[in-house]
Amino acid sequence: MLRQKLKAIQSKIPPSFTIMFIPHSEQSVFRAKVPRFVIQGSLVLLIGLIISTYYFYTDYHKMKANMSELYRLETVNKEQEYHLQELETKTEQLQEKIPELNKLENNVRNMLEENDRPGREELLSRSDALLSRNSVRMSQANELSVKHVMPSPGSAYGGTGNFTAAPADNNSINEGDDWGTRYSEIDSTLENLLVQYDNSKQTLMVLNGELETTIEYLDAKPYGWPTTEQRITSSYGWRRSPFTRRREFHDGLDIAAPYGSPVEATHSGTVVYVGYTWIYGRTVMIENKKYDFKTFYSHNSKILVDEGDEVSRGDIIAKIGSTGRSTGPHTHYEVQVNGVRVNPTDYLQ
Ligand SMILES: [Zn+2]
Repeated sequence: MLRQKLKAIQSKIPPSFTIMFIPHSEQSVFRAKVPRFVIQGSLVLLIGLIISTYYFYTDYHKMKANMSELYRLETVNKEQEYHLQELETKTEQLQEKIPELNKLENNVRNMLEENDRPGREELLSRSDALLSRNSVRMSQANELSVKHVMPSPGSAYGGTGNFTAAPADNNSINEGDDWGTRYSEIDSTLENLLVQYDNSKQTLMVLNGELETTIEYLDAKPYGWPTTEQRITSSYGWRRSPFTRRREFHDGLDIAAPYGSPVEATHSGTVVYVGYTWIYGRTVMIENKKYDFKTFYSHNSKILVDEGDEVSRGDIIAKIGSTGRSTGPHTHYEVQVNGVRVNPTDYLQ
C-alpha cells in the first residue's frame, strides 16, 4: 500500500533536473544535470538535520537545568562546610574553656577544703550563696548539652560524637531547610553553652576572689595562742598591780610558759617594732596594715626576727623569758584592732 503510494509519487517526479547558472554577462550559460536520487538524498539529509538539531536543543536545555542544580548544590555544600567549620570552632572554644573552669573550681575546692584554717565556718558561710548560684547555672548548662549536643543513636549527627552532614534527601529543597534548622539548633545550643560557661567562669572567678580576700582577712586577723602552753596568769582588764598593789588597767594577757619555749606570731603581717623597755623587756610588735591588726609580745628572753620581716601565723618570732618588769617566764600578749586595744581572749579561738 505504502510502497505503491511511494512508487506513484516517484513516477510523478522526473528522473533528473537541470540547474542553469545564468551569469549577468556575455559568458555562456552553465547547465548542470542533477539526477533525482541526489535531490531525494538532499531532502532526507535536511530532515535528518532538523530532527537532530531539535534533539540537541532539548538536551542542551536539560543539561543547562542540571548544571544550575549542580551549581546550587555546590553552593549549599560550601555553605554547609563553612557552617560546620563554625560549629567546630565553637566546640573547640568550649573544649578549651573546660580546663580553665576546672582549674578555678579546684582552686575554690582547695581553699574550702583546708580544714585547719581558722574561721573556716565563716569562710564556708560566705561562699555558700555563691556556690549554690553557680551550681544552678552549671546544671542548666548540662541540661542544654544533653538535650541538643549529645548525639543520639540514629540521629543525623551520627553516634560517634562527630558532627556529620545531614543525609541526602530525595527532595532537594527540603534538604537545605533541614540542614539549616539543624545547624541553627546546634549553633544556638553551642552559643548558649558558651554563655553558660562564661557565666560559670565569672561566678567562679568572683567566688575565687571572695575566698582569697576572706582567707587573706582570716590570715591577717589574730587567732590562736602565741605560746605552746595555755595558762593565763593575768587577764585583760582592771586588776591590782603585782608591783604597786594599786588598781591599774592591764591592757594585755599574761600567758605563762617554760623559759625558752617558742613565741609564735598569731597572724600574718610585718614586724614593725623590735626593742627593749624597762617595763616590757624584749618586745616584738607585728602589724597587718591592710586589715589594721596589731599584736604585741613582750618579756621575751630572745627575739628571732628583725624589723621589716614578713611573718605568717605560726612563725616563731621569739623565746619565752622574763625580761623587763616580770615575776616569771611568760608573754604579755596584746591585740589592737583599728588602733584600739581589745581583749586578746576573744582572739584565742
Ligand atoms: Zn601583762
